[in-house]
Parts: sequence; C-alpha cells; structure tokens
Amino acid sequence: MRERLTVSISDLRFAALHCAHCNTRVTLDFEAEFGQGGMRAPGFATPRECPRCANPYDSAVPGAVDALRRAYKALAELGDAVSFDSERPAPPKP
Ligand SMILES: [Zn+2]
Repeated sequence: MRERLTVSISDLRFAALHCAHCNTRVTLDFEAEFGQGGMRAPGFATPRECPRCANPYDSAVPGAVDALRRAYKALAELGDAVSFDSERPAPPKP
C-alpha cells in the first residue's frame, strides 16, 4: 500500500541549507524580496558559505537555490493551478 501526499507550491515556501561540516541548518524564505537592479535585499540572499563555520557550500548550491526560488515565484503566481504529488509506502497500521 502506498500513501500519496499532495503539496501546493505555497507549502514549499522555506528551503533549508544544511552544512555538512557542522550540521548548521539555514532556512531561506522564498517570499522575501530581491532588491532592485539585481542586488539582493537583506531579506533573501543565498549564502555561499555556512554562517557558523564559514566552510563553503557546494558550489552548485547557490545557483540551484536561486533557480528553485525563481520557479517558486513563477508557480506561486498560478495559485492552485499546479501542485506536486509524492508517493511513499504507507506506515504499518497499529
Ligand atoms: Zn558549518
């Protein structure tokens, strides 16, 4: 038996970056706005390194997170027109 989970794009508002060196998690809010002229407002900036231990994230992380944020914003404008489904094995019944 499999269990289906439907998620709206608005449920994916927050993304968490995980540092493999010190286990620090940094949560990013995709609703925070970018600034003008390509400069980022303080509310949203994908960090290049861990704020705790200063080790750099994988070099692919900032570009991938920025791309995900652009997709989030584009899909969020469509409201409930697009949602995501996930399937996983159903938990055993008690
Ligand atoms: Zn770290």
